Amino acid sequence: MRGKRRKVEAGHIIVNNRPPYGYKKIEKENHMTLEILEDEAKIVRSIFTWYTVEDESGNPLSVFKITRKLTQMKIPTRGDKDKKVAKKRKQGHWAMSTVNRILNSETYAGIWHFGKYDARQHRNPDDRLIAVEVPAIISPEIFEAAQSRMENNQMNSKRSQKYNYLFNRRTVCMSCGYKMNAICPNKSKGYIYYRCPSGIHPNLKQRCEQPYFRVPDVDESVWQWVKKIITDPATLEKGLADHQADQEKVNEPLQQRLEVVKSLIKKSESELAELLTSLKAMENHKAKRSKAAILNEIEQVENLLDNLESQREALIEQISTNSLSEREIKSIKEYAAAIAKDLDTLQTDFESRERLMDLLDVQVTLGMEDGQKVAYVRCNLGNSNLSIAPFTTCHKGDIIT
Ligand SMILES: [Zn+2]
Repeated sequence: MRGKRRKVEAGHIIVNNRPPYGYKKIEKENHMTLEILEDEAKIVRSIFTWYTVEDESGNPLSVFKITRKLTQMKIPTRGDKDKKVAKKRKQGHWAMSTVNRILNSETYAGIWHFGKYDARQHRNPDDRLIAVEVPAIISPEIFEAAQSRMENNQMNSKRSQKYNYLFNRRTVCMSCGYKMNAICPNKSKGYIYYRCPSGIHPNLKQRCEQPYFRVPDVDESVWQWVKKIITDPATLEKGLADHQADQEKVNEPLQQRLEVVKSLIKKSESELAELLTSLKAMENHKAKRSKAAILNEIEQVENLLDNLESQREALIEQISTNSLSEREIKSIKEYAAAIAKDLDTLQTDFESRERLMDLLDVQVTLGMEDGQKVAYVRCNLGNSNLSIAPFTTCHKGDIIT
């Protein structure tokens, strides 16, 4: 091990027979380096783009969906191409663990680490790792955007993140509509920002010139707004009423369709009843042929009824998910009353504030208007335009070099 460490410290890569996906190893005069394999690198770039921004459908994909997509696209895995890799899966079947490993590996941003695991396969602390520079497939910003989304996903199970931000993935860029990420471009300064991902992905069609938004500025402005709503009973009452009125508007066409489906069901039911009556009247006749015709018609009407009934169920469900139930309204009011009593604690209790944002489903759209940073916020209880107080003046060029 010590000999290996020395070798790595001298800039060697040690990957045995398994260079990371996207690379091949080059061995020259006892010196090993990685070289980009362009056809695999393309897949790596796509994986990062799908995860942090979107695929052709316009939505970001989960690890599960990325795995499924790669398999559906019949992209060959390492195991398909390399006889030396032990294969556990069928041809072209990607594993979620592989996609996960790719999204977590800083190698793709140009930094390969030696000594991640000890002899017993336990993860070594970060300061035991040795970093070696390798050719990068993606930029450090894209890598960080992926880490930011990953941390956000794990937030409820284990709080692994170093920084608190209330609206990661709940912020949307006003100019291009992409979900924004919370990032920390300069670790030593520790400032965190919400940033539109369009500028850092070279393979995206859309790009925008939005500045970065300081997380504390945005979080504080939006938090003050939410606080005002929930601590003032009149505002809360009005917010809930407005929200319900909005939902009724959304539900209106669904309600109309539901009425149509209901009347079609009624019509089919009486048709069915008539058919059954004529079938009964026929019992004593010998006319086999028209009996068969009626049975056939009965079957058709029954199928139609099945179909209409499932449409009715689907509509009823859609309408009810669009509306806040009495119970949900009650729980929002109770929650609001409880936290209103305890606002001072909440000010410092990040996780409770975060839960509140989830409960209220707060969404923030960030953009520039007349040279001012603004936020359009909306939640279950209403919406508002806020100007983001410029605690500091920070422009794109100041942060990223
Ligand atoms: Zn944008």
